[in-house]
Amino acid sequence: MLSSCNKDFEKGLSETANTNLQIDEIVKLGFQRESIVELKKYYLVEGCYLIPKVVPKDFKGSDFKDYIKSLAIDKKAQYRTDYSVSPTVSSSIKIWVSGTIPTGGTDDWRTAVQNAINAYNNVQYVSYHLELTNSSSMANIIIQSDNGTLPDGTLASAYLPNANGNTGSSVFVNLDAMSNYPFSDSEKTYILCHELGHALGLRHSDIPGVSNPLNYLIPGTPTSDPNSIMHSIWSFHTWNDFSSDDKTALRYLFPATPTITGSGAVCSEETYTVVNGHTVILENGNGIATLTNLGGNQYKITRVGSANGKVTLKAIVGPKAANKIIDIGAPDLQLTTIEFKNSANTGGSWCSSHMGNTFEFNEFDANIVYEARLLDMFGNVVKLPRTVYPNSTQDPFGYVPIGWYTFEIKTKHSCGDSDWIGYEIEYVNCN
Ligand SMILES: [Zn+2]
Repeated sequence: MLSSCNKDFEKGLSETANTNLQIDEIVKLGFQRESIVELKKYYLVEGCYLIPKVVPKDFKGSDFKDYIKSLAIDKKAQYRTDYSVSPTVSSSIKIWVSGTIPTGGTDDWRTAVQNAINAYNNVQYVSYHLELTNSSSMANIIIQSDNGTLPDGTLASAYLPNANGNTGSSVFVNLDAMSNYPFSDSEKTYILCHELGHALGLRHSDIPGVSNPLNYLIPGTPTSDPNSIMHSIWSFHTWNDFSSDDKTALRYLFPATPTITGSGAVCSEETYTVVNGHTVILENGNGIATLTNLGGNQYKITRVGSANGKVTLKAIVGPKAANKIIDIGAPDLQLTTIEFKNSANTGGSWCSSHMGNTFEFNEFDANIVYEARLLDMFGNVVKLPRTVYPNSTQDPFGYVPIGWYTFEIKTKHSCGDSDWIGYEIEYVNCN
């Protein structure tokens, strides 16, 4: 069995003090010392991650220790690196194939590069986009020959993202790996998808960490995934697809933004457009409404009989969610409290002597039509129902004689009206 980017751990490490200090720093990230191979200008870790001995120019700082910390990588499937590619970069990741990759013959990896780009772009509900560029200076990721750097058993390697929010800047292809084995396009595609995964921040899914206290297992993924393309072992895999957990990991690192549009109320049924809804659910719908996926981003909410209540339509992608609170049937007034005001500022009552009696609702909704009426102490309606405007300067009833009354209010809606709810109110002489 051969290893993916590949393990070639037999080589001894040179004993120079500087090397040992640098390797100590790498071990602190949780890598096994035996998994680190010293090359001329790099350390090769787990047969896959290339860590340059000299801090790259695009890193803010020159200290090797700081640089290693910025890579802070971890363990368990589906694992991610400590740093993520920024949304600005990931929305348009430009890939340049260097001239060090031949333009013909078995060493031409260009078809596989395009296949790998397509494979990444075909994953749904992600915010990244990969594309080829003809310009080396525009490139986020350069695909280039390893120039003899990698051991024969190492097929390719990649840089990881760092604290600057950039992708790993290079993927190195070992053109004469495995004694010049002639890789098929499908094998090359698999290898490149694996390496691009590293450049985007995915770690090996099968290599547990040693001492890192932080747990970067990506939420929603298992601790073991034999189908992951991020396995460190490559045994002549051809490209099929990402595993479903690989896709979960990509959605976690690069979630598309979900949106919901549609009515704020359902009388009998309403259709909603949900864009980027990887998981779409209806909360609090039990017994009052049902959700149907119509396909093509369309979802239908159906009211159960004449039930009233509030539901939440939720669209989830990785750590992102869109929520829409929807009234089923007539808008509900049960939780509302009320405060009566008057223009004489005597508070808590209304004035028979003055105009300018108003009221405020703590759950006032400007999209809802309210209706109010006034009852005397015997329950007789003394002011007929009329449209009122809570939290405004409108005086609902005009002149009303001194005495105790019941102020009743309800919501009017095309689905039907809510029940009346009543509050005691006294009209007084405010002079
Ligand atoms: Zn790898």
